[in-house]
Amino acid sequence: MSNKFQDSGFATRAIRAGQSRTHENEHSEPIFLTSSYVFDSAEQAAARFAGEETGNIYSRFTNPTVRAFEERLAALEGAQCAVGTSSGMSAILSTFMGLLASGDHIVSSRSIFGTTRVLFDKYLAKFGLQTDYVPLTDLAAWEAAIKPETKALFLETPSNPLNEIADIRALSALAKSHGCLLIVDNCFCTPALQKPLALGADIVIHSATKFIDGQGRCIGGAVVGDAERVGEEVYGFLRTAGPTMSAFNAWTFLKGLETLELRMNAHSSSALALAQWLTEQPQVAKVYYAGLPDHPGHQLAAEQQSAFGGIIAFELKGGQSAAWSLINSTKMLSITANLGDSKTTITHPATTTHGRLSTEAKLEAGITPGLVRLSVGLESVEDIKTDLLRGLKAL
Ligand SMILES: *Cc1c(COP(=O)(O)O)cnc(C)c1O
Repeated sequence: MSNKFQDSGFATRAIRAGQSRTHENEHSEPIFLTSSYVFDSAEQAAARFAGEETGNIYSRFTNPTVRAFEERLAALEGAQCAVGTSSGMSAILSTFMGLLASGDHIVSSRSIFGTTRVLFDKYLAKFGLQTDYVPLTDLAAWEAAIKPETKALFLETPSNPLNEIADIRALSALAKSHGCLLIVDNCFCTPALQKPLALGADIVIHSATKFIDGQGRCIGGAVVGDAERVGEEVYGFLRTAGPTMSAFNAWTFLKGLETLELRMNAHSSSALALAQWLTEQPQVAKVYYAGLPDHPGHQLAAEQQSAFGGIIAFELKGGQSAAWSLINSTKMLSITANLGDSKTTITHPATTTHGRLSTEAKLEAGITPGLVRLSVGLESVEDIKTDLLRGLKAL
């Protein structure tokens, strides 16, 4: 990565890191929509292919717009290296394909993105990678699940949708003492709010689709870490198997990074205001937001995050019928399972994002029929309240 802005503030790195101007002296970063690159001579082509000379060959390997995004994200996470991927899921796939082998074992938080669980149980398992699940916040359960074959611990913090908080430092110490990697999906916080590598994680995963884009336009992801594991091994899988990020999407994410800190702070302050307001509503049984002092992860979140993020879950007293009625009565909020958008979204986890879980697994994970999830957007908080209040009053 370019070290030019290494000592600059976060906002400066988010805007300036990773850019290298072409001879056209453009101010904004260009989009290099090209699948391949030309060589000055047959000799140069041969040298590039032989790896004797660095430089572009083909956009499955390298692309200047994707590289700009990667360097900027690495600068924000405080990492040696980042690689862009076609989606958050392919970032997870590429990490495990690049770093683990058949017979290896993964210990994962049970509170992870539903599709990640399908990837582990249905596809990685097919190739001899087994996964066991533990409660995110139960350190003793993590330790007990580690076997001699365990190569990686995997988690998301805060968790979706209940905002449980993992102790990244403690899990990093555990991983190190057993010779395994700690892999953190940092989708909910982004580096604007939490830097897992500085807390001891080895690899950070992103779905850039969420807050990094921040405006619901493109699908993409990234793997962030050191030059050898990410820069060689994960990258080696990517350039061979091909779930690379497109130049157009990289440009969108690059622009997203420029406003990331401002947006994450705005999402967080609106979410905190809404969470406090929801606790005062008589129809609401419980609010799950780590910014509230009575949340069990409040202290830890205050230590390892700079704000509490944009996702709130709350449980209605009236169960599923109340949840659906509230969702259906909204006029502005978007009924969609996506998150991390400037538009506020409202979701019923039990029948959508977590619908595939058995009734027992749902209850174990706290996904009750009355639970509603909000991904708080950037609209005026008063308008979000007005939209929710109509439905709450009708309950
Ligand atoms: C959405 C999401 C993913 C998957 O990302 P895609 O870009 O949709 O492939 C992975 N992890 C978390 C926490 C997510 O929210």
